[in-house]
Amino acid sequence: MAGVRLHHPTLRGGIYLVKHFRQYRYPFACPTCGTVHIQKTYHLNLDNGGFTIVSPEVLARLKEIGLAGLEIMNEVEKPPAITLTIPGTIYDRFRVFETTNRGERNG
Ligand SMILES: [Zn+2]
Repeated sequence: MAGVRLHHPTLRGGIYLVKHFRQYRYPFACPTCGTVHIQKTYHLNLDNGGFTIVSPEVLARLKEIGLAGLEIMNEVEKPPAITLTIPGTIYDRFRVFETTNRGERNG
C-alpha cells in the first residue's frame, strides 16, 4: 500500500503524538507509548530529518486538524514497515513531542 511522506519543519528524531479531536468513550491505555489517551492520538515516528510516512487514511484524519504543523512532501510507493512495536520502551529510546493544542477542529 502506498504511503505519503510528511515533514515537520522543526521536530527531529522522536515520536510525535498528534491528538485528534475525536474523543474516546473511555480512557485508552495505549500499548504503543504506555500512557493513557482520552482522544484519538496518532504516533508519528519522525526521523532525524523530521520526515515520517503515513497511510492515506491517517493523512485524511490529519487534514481534519490542519496537518498538525506537518507538510505534505510526496507519495511513497512502498513505505518501509513501521517499527513502533515495543511497548514500554519508547520513552527510553525516543524523545516524545505532543501537539500543543487539544486537537480541536481547525476552522
Ligand atoms: Zn499512545
